[in-house]
Amino acid sequence: MALKIFVDFDGTITRQDVGNAFFREFGGERCSGYVAEYKAEKISAKELFRQEVAAIGVLDEGRAEDFLFSQPIDDSFKSFVEFCRARAIAFHVVSDGLDYYIRKILSHNGIDGVSFFANKLEAVRENGIARLDISFPFDHAECTRCACCKRNIMLTHAGEEDIIVYIGEGYSDRCPAQYADVVFAKDELQKFCQEKNISYFLYSSFDDVVERMEDILSRKRPKKRREAEMKRREAFSCE
Ligand SMILES: [Mg+2]
Repeated sequence: MALKIFVDFDGTITRQDVGNAFFREFGGERCSGYVAEYKAEKISAKELFRQEVAAIGVLDEGRAEDFLFSQPIDDSFKSFVEFCRARAIAFHVVSDGLDYYIRKILSHNGIDGVSFFANKLEAVRENGIARLDISFPFDHAECTRCACCKRNIMLTHAGEEDIIVYIGEGYSDRCPAQYADVVFAKDELQKFCQEKNISYFLYSSFDDVVERMEDILSRKRPKKRREAEMKRREAFSCE
């Protein structure tokens, strides 16, 4: 038995949804319209990203870095990383956002070597101009609600004996939270857990998470959540 922790990025590690803010800043207001279409289930998550990337056109990378480096993160995330490393607990960041800004923001905040999974945005330089190219290495074959399937990443990176811990706050955390044994939730994810009767720990910062994790680890055997275990079995028999 080992603990495996999966952590959302936007709004969980960062204070705000950097992805949305990034597309609004560089793609303009029309990106809000695309988000509304996505929320109304008129377009898929991948289509949403393609539209948003097209809206940006050419990215001024200097301006992009200034913007990304000004995004505040939860101050206590760094101590959470140290906590996991000191106790040899595996953790992965799972995001339906972009590797482009996750890498830059973590590194800017002095947090290196963190494993993360996200959609891939590349700036391909041609004659000094950066053309954007988006791809989805972790998409799901059928489900279109997310472009990066956090659930499948979680199931692939946790064994049957592992206790899965999930930390999140928003829309794309609703699916993976249902498959996790221990859920840390706030904001939209908290409401979802209440509606679906998923037991969760409310947190506001990673300090709260570490405190609760210390408590969980001091018990002899952290327990699995029966509904999550059933959903995991179901997922494996369907895939
Ligand atoms: Mg989020």
